[in-house]
Amino acid sequence: MPSYTAPTRDMQFILHDVLNVAEQDTPGYAELDRDFTSAVLEEAGKIATEVLAPLNPVGDREGCTLENGVVRTPKGFKAAFDTVREGGWTALDCDPDYGGQGLPYLISSAVGEMFSSANMAFNMYQGLTHGAYNAIHAHGSDDQKQTYLPKMVSSEWGGTMNLTEPHCGTDLGLIRTKAVPQDDGSYRITGQKIWISSGEHDMVDNIIHLVLAKLPDAPEGVKGISLFIVPKFLVNEDGSLGERNALSCGGLEEKMGIHGNATCVMNYDSATGYLLGEPHKGMRAMFTMMNEARLGVGLQGYAQGEVAYQNALAFATDRLQGRDVTGTQAPDQPADPIIVHPDVRRNLMDQKAFVEGARAFTFWGASLIDAHVRGDDEEAEQMISLLTPVIKGFLTDKGFETTVLAQQTLGGSGFVREWGMEQFVRDARITMIYEGTNGIQSLDLVGRKLAQNGGKAIMAFFDMVKAYIKDNAGRDEDFDKAFLDPLKSASKDLQAAGMYFMQNGMKSPNNALSGSYDFMHLFGHVCLGLMWARMARAAKAGLDAGEGDTAFLEAKIATGRHYMSRHLPMTATHLARIEAGADTVMALEPEQFASAAG
Ligand SMILES: Cc1cc2nc3c(=O)[nH]c(=O)nc-3n(C[C@H](O)[C@H](O)[C@H](O)COP(=O)(O)OP(=O)(O)OC[C@H]3O[C@@H](n4cnc5c(N)ncnc54)[C@H](O)[C@@H]3O)c2cc1C
Repeated sequence: MPSYTAPTRDMQFILHDVLNVAEQDTPGYAELDRDFTSAVLEEAGKIATEVLAPLNPVGDREGCTLENGVVRTPKGFKAAFDTVREGGWTALDCDPDYGGQGLPYLISSAVGEMFSSANMAFNMYQGLTHGAYNAIHAHGSDDQKQTYLPKMVSSEWGGTMNLTEPHCGTDLGLIRTKAVPQDDGSYRITGQKIWISSGEHDMVDNIIHLVLAKLPDAPEGVKGISLFIVPKFLVNEDGSLGERNALSCGGLEEKMGIHGNATCVMNYDSATGYLLGEPHKGMRAMFTMMNEARLGVGLQGYAQGEVAYQNALAFATDRLQGRDVTGTQAPDQPADPIIVHPDVRRNLMDQKAFVEGARAFTFWGASLIDAHVRGDDEEAEQMISLLTPVIKGFLTDKGFETTVLAQQTLGGSGFVREWGMEQFVRDARITMIYEGTNGIQSLDLVGRKLAQNGGKAIMAFFDMVKAYIKDNAGRDEDFDKAFLDPLKSASKDLQAAGMYFMQNGMKSPNNALSGSYDFMHLFGHVCLGLMWARMARAAKAGLDAGEGDTAFLEAKIATGRHYMSRHLPMTATHLARIEAGADTVMALEPEQFASAAG
């Protein structure tokens, strides 16, 4: 059976030695000192390791079941959910006015990583509730907030996000679900939604569905979509549960992974709903917290990479095959552990370098969200808005790739169920698809974010990298060569790609859009390169100060070198692909794609 250990040491390093959180002036950060974050992370780590991780294979094997309209979660899920809820873990960054703990999003992200690594399908129940909580918190009337938020914060009630319909996922302008106004101010909601995560289940008393629908006078397309609160049980004036609403789960999807999470067909049959926010402004309301939601999915991606890596490492240390070509390491054993082999090491280093870089990048992103939401910092908002598609797209692509690398470390054992690796691969795969496919993330990045506010955010990014290099150059030749030179070169590739889009995108948008995916990856590499430079610098400072923990700090620097020398050069390949333009991509007529058949 696979195991999971919370990476608290690495998290503490990123929070305090790299991001220096307690010294940032974001409201609420002063209390994030080492002792406080250590206490939170250690406790969360225990829940992840002892309660959630053992249920991960159970959820995968059993899945959810639907009987007479009732969805049952796998054995043990409800008790675990009660433990998480009663421990206050679902309320960490929620508003104290509604029973939350008011902690920064950064700390809840760190906890979210642990819970996702331990059991992604399970953690999605609370994740979806949190998304719905955010939308009501941002757009609800006082009455709506008082009615729904306290029970959602305590997770006595769940929440869902209903966008997708059978004929539309990416192009939500096509939705058909209807909302008809009633004399009492409510609406009758009719339509079918599909693939709704946590749409129905047995762990909460009520489920607050947020549903996108169109009013009778709605303009065409996305400008005509409104958002509605549609509770499973209507709520009485005194807050008690009233009659059952006219909505039901019409089926559960059988799917590749995240079997422990109920993915539901939801039927709304003239169900009672309440407008959330303004009419026809539903998309805006649904996506208010888009940066946070997408960062959450990027986090899921590398979190699966982390747990897969941990198990690959354990296997590589135990499994005996072949001998070290440079000399036998375990003479009393029939063979050496496979970790001695350079190809296995390459595999493990690639995994380690990605997950640790991804964690630093995500925590930085979460701190930008806090700076905006808690500190009203507009520049932070522009930066995270630019980086969000990179965090979502790059980290989930690479997170999935990491689970496959980890699976490979186990040889045949990676393919069979007993070792649990194939579950990590299957579970990670969805992160590249939902919350906007990664292709759509790259279009958002190149088509929208680059040019937003006259390109202010991307210019600020380049300035930041340049300033970092300037401030840190010339002190340590070795650091300059290993970290700053590759970062400079990668950043130049990114600028050249941006320039290519500016010069050629106008001529034909296909030139920009056929290169957008490579651009997203190029950008992701530069971000991880920056993070590794910062981590290596912090590790070096720790070593120079004789802080102890030498093995950890030296490993940091060595892993950073690996990223800079073996991953960052990928930026040149991505640039070359971008500069090749759209000609070959668009060369065939649609029917020619099938020309080799028959
Ligand atoms: C397990 C699971 C859970 C989910 N949970 C939820 C949920 O809780 N709530 C919810 O509302 N939805 C949910 N979804 C739906 C999910 O968000 C959509 O599947 C996703 O957004 C993609 O939409 P689609 O599947 O309709 O693909 P399509 O929109 O049909 O796209 C198909 C392909 O075409 C590409 N494409 C489409 N349009 C363009 C374009 N203009 N330019 C370039 N490429 C394009 C896409 O990138 C994709 O590769 C879930 C899906 C799954 C499988």
